[in-house]
Amino acid sequence: MDKFVKDILENRKLNAEKKAQDTLKRALYDKSFKSIYSKYKSLEIEKAKNEVYNKPFDNKKLEDPLNSLKKRLKELGLKYEDLSPSYTCKKCEDTGIYNNKECDCVKEIKSNELLKLSGLNFKPHTFAESNFSIFDNPEILKKFYSAMKSWCNTPTTIKNIIISGQSGVGKSFLLECMLSELIEQKKYVLYTTAFTLSQNLLKYHTTFDANKESIIAPYLDCDVLIIDDLGTEPIFKNVTEEYLYLILNQRTFEQKPVIISTNLSLENIKNRYGERIFSRLINKSLCKLFQIENRDLRLKKNN
Ligand SMILES: [Zn+2]
Repeated sequence: MDKFVKDILENRKLNAEKKAQDTLKRALYDKSFKSIYSKYKSLEIEKAKNEVYNKPFDNKKLEDPLNSLKKRLKELGLKYEDLSPSYTCKKCEDTGIYNNKECDCVKEIKSNELLKLSGLNFKPHTFAESNFSIFDNPEILKKFYSAMKSWCNTPTTIKNIIISGQSGVGKSFLLECMLSELIEQKKYVLYTTAFTLSQNLLKYHTTFDANKESIIAPYLDCDVLIIDDLGTEPIFKNVTEEYLYLILNQRTFEQKPVIISTNLSLENIKNRYGERIFSRLINKSLCKLFQIENRDLRLKKNN
C-alpha cells in the first residue's frame, strides 16, 4: 500500500477512535452514567467469560442496563453510537484490508488523490447531466453515451477508446462523465490533459533523484488512464514520444485501458507521434475509435 494511502487511513482511524474515547470521557464525568456504565461493562465481561467456558449467558440481563445507559446519555446530550468509533469506511474500519484483500476505499483514496494531482479543481460532470438536445442526432449520441457508461462498468471488453473530433463537440464533457463513473465504480483512475502529461514527462526526463519514478508511476499504475485533448500539447524532442510509448506499451502489456480525446485525425496522429505510438494506439484488436463530427456521431469502422 502506498505511504500516502496508509497515512490517510491511519489518520481516519485515529480520529474516529479519539472521537469515541472523548465522548466516553465526557460521559464518565457524570456520576450516574459512570455507575450504570461500570455495571454494564461488568456484565459484558461476564458474558465474554461465559463464552470462553461455554457457559450459557442470558442476554436479557444486558437489556435494562443498556437502556438506562442510552437514556442517561441522551439526557447528557450524547448518543450511544458515539461511544464506538465511527469509521469512514465501515467495511474495513479504516484499515484498508477487507476479507484479506485491499478494500475498495483504498482505490477511492487513490482516485481522489489523483483527482487532485490532475489539477482538476472542479467536480467532473456526470452522465446524469448529459444534454443531447444540442446534437443533430440526439438518439445516436444517447446510445453512444450509454455504451460508454456501460464500458465504465466493465472496462474490459475494449482496451483503449479514442474519441476524435473537432473542439466544441463535447469530447471533454464525455471524458469527465467517464471519469465520474469510473470513480463511482471505485476504479483507480487518472485523468490528465495531454498538456499536463507532456509537462510531467519532461519533468520525469530531467529528474535524477529518488522522486523520479513517482512522477511516471501513476500513469502506469492506474486502472484507467484518461488523456484529454491529445495533440494540443507541446512535443519535446526525445521525451514526449519516448515516454508516451513507454506508458502505452506497458499499459497494453498489462491490459490496462487508456481513454483519449483528440482533435487529430488518424493521419495526423501518425504524423505527429510516429508509427510506433500510432500502432500502439490504433491497434484493431486493442482499440475502439469514435468520431464525433459536426455535432453528429460517426462510428469509424476501424474494427
Ligand atoms: Zn475500506
